[in-house]
Amino acid sequence: MATLPSSSPSPTGSPPPGEPAGARPHGLPDRGVPVERVLAELAGLCADDHDYRDGTVFNSICSTPLPVAEQVFAAHQQSNMGDNRIFPSLPRAEAEVTAMLADLMDGPGAAGVATSGGTEANLLAVLAALRHHRARFGAGAPARVLMGDSAHFSFDKIAALLAVEVVRVPSDERLRVDTGRLLPLVTPETALVVATAGSSESGAVDDVPAIAAHASALGVPVHVDAATGGFLVPFARELGDDLPAIGFGVDGVSSITLDPHKYGGAPIPAGHVLFRDPGAPDALRTSSHYRGTLDHHALLGTRPGGALLATWAALRAQGRNGYRASVAGLWERRALLVRLLTEAGFEVAPRPELTVVTVRHPSPEKLVDALEERGLIASVARRLGLLRLVVHWHQSERQLRGLVAALAEVDGGRP
Ligand SMILES: *Cc1c(COP(=O)(O)O)cnc(C)c1O
Repeated sequence: MATLPSSSPSPTGSPPPGEPAGARPHGLPDRGVPVERVLAELAGLCADDHDYRDGTVFNSICSTPLPVAEQVFAAHQQSNMGDNRIFPSLPRAEAEVTAMLADLMDGPGAAGVATSGGTEANLLAVLAALRHHRARFGAGAPARVLMGDSAHFSFDKIAALLAVEVVRVPSDERLRVDTGRLLPLVTPETALVVATAGSSESGAVDDVPAIAAHASALGVPVHVDAATGGFLVPFARELGDDLPAIGFGVDGVSSITLDPHKYGGAPIPAGHVLFRDPGAPDALRTSSHYRGTLDHHALLGTRPGGALLATWAALRAQGRNGYRASVAGLWERRALLVRLLTEAGFEVAPRPELTVVTVRHPSPEKLVDALEERGLIASVARRLGLLRLVVHWHQSERQLRGLVAALAEVDGGRP
């Protein structure tokens, strides 16, 4: 076999970011690079990355994990949910995380599968619904999945992978799915209705009770995508917010997606899907080819046990009181941000329901570009044409004040 001379350019082309082309060989090095040099190169590779704690990140619903979760994650990097014989702790941990999340969602007894995040959790929920639908209506029956246009774009990926037709319905003025348009589309042959509990664009929470009451009366299952809102809505309700119930306490909710790596304090990748019917995951079963290996119910084969154990630790360490306090802290940041923006002459609209604060502005893209030149990351919900700011626990009051001051400055030339 021919070996490439070490000066050959990589067939994949571009040099690592920050490196001038041709400065060093790309592609797999012929000879291992000394570790110190590797680490120095890595520091260069990551030089432009932000740290959640440095006060520059205002677009992310993910954040730093809790310290205990970081510690557990680091200690269990070799842990693999795909091998229950080497790691018998993991099926137990998965059952315990399921039980804690089911408790959070008012569904003691619910079944669950740990996933890599909300995308995989939504995929499994749709797949289970599709198989259930086919068992009822036949393999060739069309499978429609109804949702609001604010539902996450993971459902577009899912529609490309599974034999379902995703039908999106417009939102109301608060950016929740317009139930006046959604409900009349539901028929007994609908495969699934998806309600979003905290859209990642705007934080809007769909009217889960109204959707579930209508769909379940027609025998149609309802999936609640609570990837963003799962750790927020229950505690916001306890704090007195006027938000709908989103969990299994609502009759007709059949499955729920949660993302512990968003507001749960877990490291990436940590998602979860819950099913009210403890037998529902049977529809997801694939048997392993190996003696003693449990059936699989997730999409991934080799699965990060470290993230599951870190999620377990985060849930135990936080408890209800920890999450409640964390939501109270987020709500203080949100109130401050809304007040500062309003005082600076920005129009916050619609009223934020969770941690996403949206601002109406004639050219939000320009604002975000100008902020980025100053090293600050905000975002634009492009579909909505709104400036989108996300509050998270990595932000201090001083940092939020700095953000609004920068926004006011870059917006100086506003018409
Ligand atoms: C984040 C999110 C997802 C996707 O989750 P990933 O963890 O990014 O795969 C799905 N739905 C909603 C509402 C989300 O906020």
